[in-house]
Parts: sequence; C-alpha cells; structure tokens
Amino acid sequence: MIDAKFQQYKDDEYTNLEKSFVTYADLVGINFLNSTTDAEPFVTLPTFGHGLIGKYVKKYDIENIEKQNVIVRETVYRKLLNVDTVLKRRNADWQLVVVYGYRSRDIQQQLFNDEQEKIKIENPGLSENEITENVHRRIAVPSVAGHPTGGAVDVTIYDFENKCFLDFGTEVRDFSTRDVYFKSPFISKQQKDNRSLLRKIMCNEGFAPYDGEWWHFSYGDKEWAFYSRRQASRNKSDILSVDNYDKYLYAQKSSSELVYVDKYRDSAVVPQVGFIRLAIQKKGRLTEDTINILTKSGIDVAHDGGSFFGKCHNFPLEILFVRDDDIPSLVDAGAADIGIVGKNTYDELDCKSEIVKNLGFGRCALAIAIPEDSNIESIFDLSGKKVATSYPNSAKKFFDEANVSDVEVVPLSGSVEMAVTIGYADAIVDLVSTGGSLRQNKLKFLHKIFDSESVLVANKDVFSNKDKSTTINRLLIRINGYLSAKSYKRIMFSVSAEQLKFVNPILSQAKLLHAHDVLGGAEQNIVNAIIKKSSVWDIVEKLREIGATDIVLHDIESII
Ligand code: AMP
Repeated sequence: MIDAKFQQYKDDEYTNLEKSFVTYADLVGINFLNSTTDAEPFVTLPTFGHGLIGKYVKKYDIENIEKQNVIVRETVYRKLLNVDTVLKRRNADWQLVVVYGYRSRDIQQQLFNDEQEKIKIENPGLSENEITENVHRRIAVPSVAGHPTGGAVDVTIYDFENKCFLDFGTEVRDFSTRDVYFKSPFISKQQKDNRSLLRKIMCNEGFAPYDGEWWHFSYGDKEWAFYSRRQASRNKSDILSVDNYDKYLYAQKSSSELVYVDKYRDSAVVPQVGFIRLAIQKKGRLTEDTINILTKSGIDVAHDGGSFFGKCHNFPLEILFVRDDDIPSLVDAGAADIGIVGKNTYDELDCKSEIVKNLGFGRCALAIAIPEDSNIESIFDLSGKKVATSYPNSAKKFFDEANVSDVEVVPLSGSVEMAVTIGYADAIVDLVSTGGSLRQNKLKFLHKIFDSESVLVANKDVFSNKDKSTTINRLLIRINGYLSAKSYKRIMFSVSAEQLKFVNPILSQAKLLHAHDVLGGAEQNIVNAIIKKSSVWDIVEKLREIGATDIVLHDIESII
C-alpha cells in the first residue's frame, strides 16, 4: 500500500516536471531559413583515443548509417571539442563521449511512428494532440526534430581512472524510468551534481539542454532556437539580437544530402602508441618562433589557421593551438602532454608541470617601471603604493621576498601602462624586451624581477608513460640539434702549406665546436671547421690577413 502511494507520489512529481518541457507546440512555429550554415559539412567523430569520441551503442537505436560512427555538424564538433577540453581541465581522466548525433529523417519518422503506436495502446483515452506531445517527449516530432539536423547530440562522460561512466542516475537513453528527467528528485546528490556539471559546461559552449533527457543537448536546431530566445527574454538582455537565432537554424538533411569532412578524423584522435599532444600559442608573439623551431627540427606542421588542431605528417605529434595563458593549465591537467609557453606565464600560474627545455626565443624580462617624472628611486619607495600588473602572483611574490611592505598590487589583464598614465597606479610590473613600449608610454625602468624566455613544459606524469616519453625524447633530440646548430656556422677556406701553420692559432682562439679537418696535399689545403657564430667575422678577417682564399660560410641545420 505504501509502495502504491509512493509510486503515485512519484508519478505526480514526474508529471509535474513534464509540464515545463519544451513541447511540439512550442517548436512548430519556428521556421527554417535558408542560411549559409546549411552548407556546413558533417564530421565523423573519432571512435577511439583519449579526446572527444563518438561511441555509437547499437542498443540506443535501430539505425547506424556509417557503421559505429557518430556524425555531427562541423560547428557542433568544434564546440564538443571545447567541452572535452573544459572537462579535462576539471579532471584529466574525463572524456566527453557522444553516443548519438545525426539521425536521418526516415529513421526519425520510423522511431516516432513506433513510439506513437505504443503510447496509443498504453493510453487509449488520449486525444491526437495529447498523443503527439506524449511521443514528442521521447521521440521528437520529425518536422521539428534536432537529430536530423546534425545539431543534436546525446552525451555522457567517461572516467579513465575508474574505468566507468560518471554516475548520472540512469544510463543514457534508458527510458525504463522517468529518472532520466533532468530534474528528477529521486536521484542522489552526486548524480544531480554530475548532471548539473555536464549541463553547465555544455550550455557555456552555447548548447541548449532538454529537461526530458539529461544527456540531450543541441545547437542550431529548433529546440535550441526556442531555448535561446527564451533565455534572452528571461534575462531581458539582447532582445534585438533574438532574431539572429533563426539565422543559425540548421535545416534537416537526409543521409544522401550529407557532405562530410574527414580532416578531423586523424587530427582529433590520439590513436597511435606514443602519440603526444603539444599546446602552443594560437596567435601572438610566440606563434611564429614556435612553429619555426618545430619546422627547423624537421617536423612538418600542417595548420589551416582556423581550427584548434594541427597535424604533423612525419611525427607522432598533434598540435593544439590555444591562448598562451591556457597552456600551463592544459598541460597540468594532461589535456596536452607538453606545451611551449613563456616562462613568465608558467611562473605566474603556479604550475605542476615541469620545464624540460629552455628554448631561447621570446626573451623578455618582467620588470618594474615608473613614470619618467616619478621621484621613486628604489623598490623600497613603492611601499604603500599601487602597482598595476597582469602578473599579480609574480609581483606579490617579489615584493614579499624583497620585504617591501604594503604594496597594493592591482591586477589588470591588459594595457597596464594606462593605469599609470591616468594616475590609477604609481608603477607597473610588466614584460619588457626592447624598452620601446616603456618609452612610448613615458615610463622608465626601475628594477628587473626576472628574465624570461620560451620553455618547453611537460605534464608531470607524462614521463611515466614509456611510449610518450620516447616520443618526447625524440622531439628533444631534434630541438637540441637545432638549438645547438643555431649558434654555429661552418667555415671552409683554402690555404697553402705555408699559411696552414697560422690557421691553428686563429681557429683555436675562436670558440670551436670540434677540431677542424684539413684536406688536400701539401701545396694547397682545404680547411673545414665549425665555429661559434659570434666569432665568425673576427676569424674571417684574420684568415684573410694570412692569405686564405675561397672562404665559404654555411648555416648548419642540426648538430646532434
Ligand atoms: P603575447 O602574444 O603578447 O600575449 O605574448 C606572449 C608571450 O611573449 C609573453 O607571455 C612573453 O613570454 C613573450 N614576450 C616576449 N617579449 C615580450 C614583450 N616585450 N612583451 C610581452 N610579451 C613578450
């Protein structure tokens, strides 16, 4: 009896929740526009690896149009990648698994018809409209359905550490219980928290949730347009741009209309043993030099400029193009195995990753600067003053260690010089390389906090993976080879037997990498040596003085 009462109570609760679900009636009036987003290609998700994957599970559906593959719109794919990255920042062992994406219109219709038959039999008293809405809660009415647009996905989270999916209270698409409703009150606190976390991360990326299924999200379909409009009007923000939501509405596609891109299939996966992911700055001061060092190390980087990923055709390396301040945390979390970043950024962010190599470019210093007309003379005069900076942790640490008390460190994310110009701060702590920017802003150097250059950082656990460690060491051999070669030149010249006597003392004054070779007979000799770039011209002049001829200088690619 108690059971029956409790069941009745539960049913009432579920029925109450259903009232707030998006209905077919809500969506029927939203029209598709012919928009450019519709020419967008479809992407087949990678099926294995540690990153975002599509894992089609047969029991979830009767159709599988591309054997075991999950297919989504390209924009949706990029957004899902971001979700996976955000998840990994929270826990490096988590992975976003998409169990369902695109479904053809025919299958949608078939699923709808089957469900409709079932509901009709179970609820003989319902009107046509009620039946439609009932079915719609599980299988969307085909004309408004999201899956046939390639914009709707069913997702869950896998935990590599515990080798299981996170506990969301029910399995994905387990319709034997109404606990699949997002707000079911009959699930545990942990299960609710997991659902909320997934929803928060997906919605931050622009997806619309569906209250009737904790795993269902969409972007660009009618449900998304309805949700986005409702959010905008609730927040009373952005009312004018509400119309824009329709511009991005995706049309449904039949499977014969799909245009695929395959370019991500390899780039997004880390499928091979020993494959590593390197995070580098997407756009900024370090980008060119970083790509240059890789190219000069014999690594062929292919990047289309737009996506987050770059492939290397000749090395087991995937490149992740990101903001430089995100690199340390991505590497810390294991979302990338290694990264190239300014040491200044690494120091500022209290990283757990290790610096494995100084790379010698992006040299600058974190320094304190004051207005040209300031009467501050030493760092101790900053006591009780305001200092603006984008490096608050490094600045605070410096003032603490130098025993300069009561400095008010004001964090700003950019344009710190401005803070002094408008009198908001008395000094700044900022990166300086040539000093040009200081002069431009009528500032002068007061004190250097530390020198910085680009460094290669590695996740602290990555070297315990034998295969990845081998790849990183292979990469380091190449980088070391290039960096050593950068500071040397090869010199060749011709001298007579008489002149040869003077060659040894000249070359040994220079910073010679190794002893030189002498080829040829007694009369005329060809000398070949590797010398420090910094002494090249000094040596050339001395060699000319002794009468050496045919002096040739070469750049060296690598010294291993
Ligand atoms: P940005 O692209 O301006 O965000 O700079 C990226 C990184 O370049 C910084 O974090 C530093 O490591 C390095 N860098 C080298 N010289 C400078 C400079 N004069 N100002 C700012 N950053 C510099």
